[in-house]
Amino acid sequence: MNTIPKRLDSVYLAIQNCQIDHGVTQSVQLLAVSKTKPAEDIESAYQAGQRQFGENYVQEGVDKIHALKHLSDIQWHFIGPLQSNKSRLVAEHFDWVQSVDREKIARRLSEQRPTGQPALNVLIQINISHEASKSGLDEQELLVLAEKIAELPNLTLRGLMTIGSNTDDDALRQQEFLRMHALFERLKTKYDSVDTLSMGMSGDWQQAIACGATMIRLGTAIFGQR
Ligand SMILES: *Cc1c(COP(=O)(O)O)cnc(C)c1O
Repeated sequence: MNTIPKRLDSVYLAIQNCQIDHGVTQSVQLLAVSKTKPAEDIESAYQAGQRQFGENYVQEGVDKIHALKHLSDIQWHFIGPLQSNKSRLVAEHFDWVQSVDREKIARRLSEQRPTGQPALNVLIQINISHEASKSGLDEQELLVLAEKIAELPNLTLRGLMTIGSNTDDDALRQQEFLRMHALFERLKTKYDSVDTLSMGMSGDWQQAIACGATMIRLGTAIFGQR
């Protein structure tokens, strides 16, 4: 039996309840993270109403985008680490890139975005936990990169993305999420196009919403274990 529509329904409901419980006023988008899952699983989620999907690996993502071309209103988000030699495929096929953390990548994405396509939506990934294993920019460097991105013709700066610490320490993660929210509010005052704070995964999304996330990224909760 296909459990994806059922899981998705309970996720939508849980998001609503979380918003009510925490009295948050921002609207919250759900990004369905489909890495390692087949195109049929994405199609099931689509039939249940989901439109935004996230992929971590360039070639795998591009293959699924081709396979699901007929679902033309899907918004595809690239959320994995991005090497510059793969940037062209991303610029040509995706609608969003959430993992931009350096000028070189931003510049290439803008140059490689095909003419006639709308600007590529970009989030700057912040390494809020300062863990060496994680990609992302240090907070202090945010405004410099934001300014560079804002000048690039084929990118639209939409906001920030982060991956919280993988920890049982709720207070530590809360501190990180609140710092992200403060950075996001600051960025919003400078750029009208900024409206997205992407944080929270299957293990910590309620906390992220309580701290101001406008987009959460769920894989396991929708598609099951990888
Ligand atoms: C895999 C992944 C997710 C989803 O993770 P789950 O724990 O399965 O919800 C979210 N964001 C990023 C950047 C990921 O790589």
